[in-house]
Amino acid sequence: MSIPAAHGLLRVVLPVPLRREFDYLCPLPLPARGCRVRVPFGSRTMVALVLDHPDHSGVERDKLKPVTGRLDEHPVLQEQELRLLDWAAQYYLHAPGEVYFQALPTLLRKGEAASYRSIDYWHRLASQETVALRAVKQRQALALLEPGPLTAGELEARGIGTAVLRALADKGLLEKREQLPATRDWRHQIAIAHQDKPRLSTEQALAVSCIAQADGFSPFLLEGITGSGKTEVYLQAMEPVLAAGRQVLVLVPEIGLTPQTIARFERRFQVPVSTLHSGMSERERLDAWLSCRDGTAAIVIGTRSALLTPFRELGLVIIDEEHDGSFKQQDGFRYHARDLALLRARQLAIPIVLGSATPSFESLHNATSGKYRLLTLSQRPGSATLAEHRLLDSKHVQLHAGLSPQLLQLMEQELAGGNQVMLFLNRRGYAPVLLCHDCGWLADCERCDAHYTWHKGQSRLHCHHCEHQRPVPPQCPHCGSRQLLGTGLGTEQVEQALAGLFPQYGIIRIDRDNTRRKGSFQQHLEGIRTGRYQILLGTQMLAKGHHFPDVTLVAMLDVDGALFASDFRATERFAQLYIQVAGRAGRASKPGRVVLQTHHPDHALLQDLANQGYRHFALGALQERRQAGLPPFSFQALFRAQATKAQYCQDFLLQLTQQLMPTLPGEVRSLGPFSAQMERKAGQYRYQLLLQAGNRRELARACRQALAIIDTLAAARRVRWSLDIDPVEL
Ligand code: ADP
Ligand code: ZN
Ligand code: ZN
Repeated sequence: MSIPAAHGLLRVVLPVPLRREFDYLCPLPLPARGCRVRVPFGSRTMVALVLDHPDHSGVERDKLKPVTGRLDEHPVLQEQELRLLDWAAQYYLHAPGEVYFQALPTLLRKGEAASYRSIDYWHRLASQETVALRAVKQRQALALLEPGPLTAGELEARGIGTAVLRALADKGLLEKREQLPATRDWRHQIAIAHQDKPRLSTEQALAVSCIAQADGFSPFLLEGITGSGKTEVYLQAMEPVLAAGRQVLVLVPEIGLTPQTIARFERRFQVPVSTLHSGMSERERLDAWLSCRDGTAAIVIGTRSALLTPFRELGLVIIDEEHDGSFKQQDGFRYHARDLALLRARQLAIPIVLGSATPSFESLHNATSGKYRLLTLSQRPGSATLAEHRLLDSKHVQLHAGLSPQLLQLMEQELAGGNQVMLFLNRRGYAPVLLCHDCGWLADCERCDAHYTWHKGQSRLHCHHCEHQRPVPPQCPHCGSRQLLGTGLGTEQVEQALAGLFPQYGIIRIDRDNTRRKGSFQQHLEGIRTGRYQILLGTQMLAKGHHFPDVTLVAMLDVDGALFASDFRATERFAQLYIQVAGRAGRASKPGRVVLQTHHPDHALLQDLANQGYRHFALGALQERRQAGLPPFSFQALFRAQATKAQYCQDFLLQLTQQLMPTLPGEVRSLGPFSAQMERKAGQYRYQLLLQAGNRRELARACRQALAIIDTLAAARRVRWSLDIDPVEL
């Protein structure tokens, strides 16, 4: 085909779920690869990203449309990121447009300019420095603003809510002013707070020097029990990198982004720290993104998607709590941030440190097989001792709201000694089931294969799977009885029982229900730290990453369900949770105790964890996976389908299997189609087909073959389907 004079061809990607690129005409000179343009698409105009300037197009000349606008003079993504994203699109076999657009902040996806704009900053007013403030938060806010102004979002990430800021503004101590983000060249101004640096233990020193001496791409697994000083290792490993003027990326789980962590990094280096997480406004996110790209941020702390951010000069990647499930995206482009981070580190030839007290089996396998260098911290610094583990048999024992007399006695002891006690129950609400005492009717969600959870305080039923809610019926809809009872245990119920049992102590519940309000989670944590509460009760929100030095007893209630789950990863997850929860006990100089209430105290998994520890358990479990040929000794890909009728899913997946089977090499096994663990969720039936192989290349080939087949299947149009490479949930 020929092209109109003074026009060229652009090959772009669009944020649509199609596995292809698109060609457009564009007047010369053509925008560079990595620039955004506006293009007509169907009846809409969309933002597109330029990938290439091809000579020819497979599309006929009169079908090609011209772009309608240019958005960038300079590329928003550099060659380096473009290559990473291209690789990711091919590895995950995902629509390239969705992959590339995932790397852009929302405002850039919408076509906003890739530049800073003035926004509100809180400034500390210089004059009244001597005013004595009694409120801790207000003093903290002033201290944070001492080096320079911050936005409301940045202050929020550091534990300061807007109420505090307004109170200070009323006192004439702060002022809000619109300005461009302050940029300073931190490269020559690193001031390391040496007074904060502890003397490293031998293990820590070895870890730091191994990382510092790493040359080129070097993956490390830093396996260190909770409180063993992993963060200190990160800090000292970062020092030479920052001193050389290079940036550091720290990935943390969704829930682990705590003000204390950020403060610790800032205090040590006094360099600009940017945060990237879901709680920020679109403008704040764009500004943080720009500060990574331009190199004005020295340290970037963020959740999963921060990994896709461009950096001017990245020198080190750290992934804290590398085993955490939140690093895997569970919808759309289902990437694993840890796996992509490794790829990125390889591409840049820089070291990467994966840290955890409970490494994922994948990483542990890579470490024991020599792909990663294993660094171990087996002790806590100073006098901090390890917790004693105890399994409490709850068979034949009269439980009070799930608490055995033995546990209550232990609690009393610790509380009387002025210590804090933490109870862990991974189920919010009052009771997981509401039933009719007279006829056995169960309150089930109409849209899911699941019971409603009874939230007694609100007098409502919530489905925790589709978020559907309704009022509690006054009587049984089946037999009219008014005897509706809750069975099973949720945090709300335990909280109520505790209030009756321990009226003299402060009790705080921490779960998604009572941390919804902005800033309330921080407030609760503050109350724990200042000793307002002695009994802490919560779900896994409470288990991760927080330091509570006065907790001397940690108890896990009602975990038996996890021991018998069908998913082969369930035991790994349970073991990680158990160790994480246990790690909350005895972190400071006080000895700690971990109690697990169970009907199965002889269960091999519990015995192993309580007596031998995580590593022993994990190596044994890895051995079993090897024998069963399960990941990480094989690779998996999961085709998921959902539809309003089960039949549609079955038809689609059966046709796919029938056509795929004859083409599969012996290496690749296909399992299913089978229903998801919860067959119906939010009104959708869910089925899946699993492909497994000992060889990644063969598996990828089979998946590509399957995708080609799906393109020809009419049945594919009646379902919503997706492909999940390296699925972590089946
Ligand atoms: P982790 O990240 O493994 O949970 P941290 O790095 O937060 O552990 O360390 C736990 C506590 O021990 C922190 O209060 C930290 O300041 C302190 N700490 C770390 N390393 C040392 C050390 N070598 N000497 C004394 N205290 C240390
Ligand atoms: Zn009834
Ligand atoms: Zn539901």
